[in-house]
Amino acid sequence: MRELLGRPRLLERLGERLARDEASHAYLCSGPRSIGKHTLALRIAQTLLCEASRAPGGCGRCLACRKIEHGTHPDVRVIEKPADRERISIEQVREMERDLVLRPLEGRWRVVILDDAADLSADARHSILKTLEEPPSHAVLVIVTRTPQGIEETIVSRCQPIALRPVSTERIRGFVQERTGQASLASLVAPLAQGRPGLALTLASDAQERERRLAMLDELFALVGARLIDRFGWANRAAQEAAKDRAVVEERLTLWLALLRDACVASAAVAPLHPDRAEQTSRLARLAGLRQLAPAAELVIRLRDDLDRNSNARTALELLMLRLPYLAEFARAA
Ligand SMILES: [Zn+2]
Repeated sequence: MRELLGRPRLLERLGERLARDEASHAYLCSGPRSIGKHTLALRIAQTLLCEASRAPGGCGRCLACRKIEHGTHPDVRVIEKPADRERISIEQVREMERDLVLRPLEGRWRVVILDDAADLSADARHSILKTLEEPPSHAVLVIVTRTPQGIEETIVSRCQPIALRPVSTERIRGFVQERTGQASLASLVAPLAQGRPGLALTLASDAQERERRLAMLDELFALVGARLIDRFGWANRAAQEAAKDRAVVEERLTLWLALLRDACVASAAVAPLHPDRAEQTSRLARLAGLRQLAPAAELVIRLRDDLDRNSNARTALELLMLRLPYLAEFARAA
């Protein structure tokens, strides 16, 4: 049986139902960025259309499975926001719907993967709802989203929900060790992956990506020891970066949040999320104290959510720079 990284049972349960021909006409796969939602959507399509087996996730080797993996199966359509556009347009949805009513060309089903539903324009949403109300008998829609709370209840209520949650660091550690046979590497990358098994594997094999994230951790300590003028310089660069790719800034904020959390609980003998930075976080805790650290952590959470809502990233980042505790000791260390 094929598995979804770190989640053996999820696909198994789903596969059993699909194998009994209890396919739902619509699924809603939700969860944070890079958690494996798109992969899950592909596995659903492979379970439905595999020519060699009825195993959960398909066989992964037959022509149908390989075509789905490579995006060339004529009965599987992926709808995404074009790179140069703000939204998934009504034209994209209409074209899909014209296709969807036709009989499948190669398999028994036509599968549409809609990624991400939050990108749908208002009229595209309306059109999707129509399809969900009366789907063709051979149609399966897999709707992917990071923010199910932003999708209309009328759409959500017509889908079978599948929520992908972050996998625990401990499980990721075990899983990377199993795959790579390297315990120290597994311990290093597990906390950096923040619950995403796929990312953990990437980090295990890609030293450059790994170093980039370790540098993001150290950036927080450097900023704690930096004067305002340097902090604003940083905020300026980060805002420019966010304009190009919000995910990078979001990634950094999530790593920082884990460090601030470690600092907040340092005196409570709770295991740190980043053991290899425990010396710095307990120093941060000792020198800054909860009264400064807790509001900074809260601000990071708010800032990360705001990035998603397209608010003014620069102002938010500058605000964080003003609220971050200043500790001269970290300036010497940096
Ligand atoms: Zn197959």
